[in-house]
Amino acid sequence: MRAGLVADGGSDLKMILSYVDSLPTGDEKGLFYALDLGGTNFRVLRVQLGGKESRVVDTEFEQVAIPQELMHSTTEELFDFIASELARFAAKESARFRWPQGRKGEIGFTFSFPVRQTSIDSGIFIKWTKGFAVSGTAGKDVVECLKEAMKRQGLDMRVSALVNDAVGTLAGAHYWDEDVVVAVILGTGTNACYIERMDAIAKMGKLADGSGKTIINTEWGAFSTGLPLTVFDRDMDSESINPGEQIFEKTISGMYLGEIVRRVLLKMAKASALFGYPVPDKLSTPFVLRTPDLCAMQQDDSKDLKEVETILSNTIGATYSTLGARKIVVEVCDTIVKRGGRLAGAGIVGILQKMERDSKGLVFGKRTVVAMDGGLYEHYPQYRNYLKEAVTELLGFEISRNVIIEHTKDGSGIGAALLAASNSKHV
Ligand code: ADP
Repeated sequence: MRAGLVADGGSDLKMILSYVDSLPTGDEKGLFYALDLGGTNFRVLRVQLGGKESRVVDTEFEQVAIPQELMHSTTEELFDFIASELARFAAKESARFRWPQGRKGEIGFTFSFPVRQTSIDSGIFIKWTKGFAVSGTAGKDVVECLKEAMKRQGLDMRVSALVNDAVGTLAGAHYWDEDVVVAVILGTGTNACYIERMDAIAKMGKLADGSGKTIINTEWGAFSTGLPLTVFDRDMDSESINPGEQIFEKTISGMYLGEIVRRVLLKMAKASALFGYPVPDKLSTPFVLRTPDLCAMQQDDSKDLKEVETILSNTIGATYSTLGARKIVVEVCDTIVKRGGRLAGAGIVGILQKMERDSKGLVFGKRTVVAMDGGLYEHYPQYRNYLKEAVTELLGFEISRNVIIEHTKDGSGIGAALLAASNSKHV
């Protein structure tokens, strides 16, 4: 983390500046929009803010699945889709949301792929992750891409903040609870950010003067130094669209856990006819087994594991499985999920320890909150438990009593709208 704060390229951890140096205070008022492009889904949201007294008066949101072909399309096609969905949403009449008279609508744009932020409302695209392979984005300002697409759609709105989803989650959660200092996303991909002192960020040079604070986006999914990997991890990585990259993400996030389990089961099926003979064809298809399937199998508490049987048949085409084989499958799921949850927990402890050392007692000596979001954390109880167990184990019981790991549902959308508000050109 420190090496990444000294210089760009100094570490696997990019430690990206968010340019968020004033977090929402609660005084923000008016109607604001948020767009969230981050993985399997795209979300549009509007929020009516009422200032200190009434805070979030109302919110409305829509979620649209990103068509598979757009994940491999051109930049223009992807951004046209986003802008057209926003235009459709903004055009929807609603008595609950008052359009600001004579003002342009303002948007917080959550874009959850690595971007080199250049100001609060601009950032240069670095690379696609999480299975996206859109052409022509490298080196472009993603806010400009959005603005051009909005123009093509005839939509006149202003992009006031470009926000990473972890940063949005931190801003949103901090709005309700000032003890929130770290935010972690565990969904299709993963990321974490935290509040850092400006004077600890050597790569900011002169700008780092003063005692202010800002949010650092670690892009921890890219971490790889020293991670112990198995043959299954290495094979999955070398066959991925970004070999050698995002190794931490590939061991802990939702996109990959199912695929790692599939690879283990394939090897077992070949070596010991786990699902009889011949090995089910579909078991050789990458990504047929998804993380929600693992989760569903782990929730099966029936004696004969009927649900596991059904899922194995529906996903990998294992029409024959003995009870013994089904138990082994559940154990494999548990092993991979345990490793993922514990590594994620270790990552959180790493960030907290860095903050503690720099602040000398100001993190562990008081209530400290880590805001969590993402479908994997939200829906997978075993993963959640392993993560929390690892945090307690690494910090020790006493310290971990002060560290609260809290799920904040859809904090990132509201957070982006709040950051659009606190960076509004009208205030
Ligand atoms: P994003 O795709 O933007 O990260 P989410 O935060 O909703 O969106 O995360 C979706 C991911 O969460 C899925 O790709 C999947 O890996 C994981 N997930 C969703 N539902 C479940 C579930 N029931 N059990 C385990 N993981 C799940």
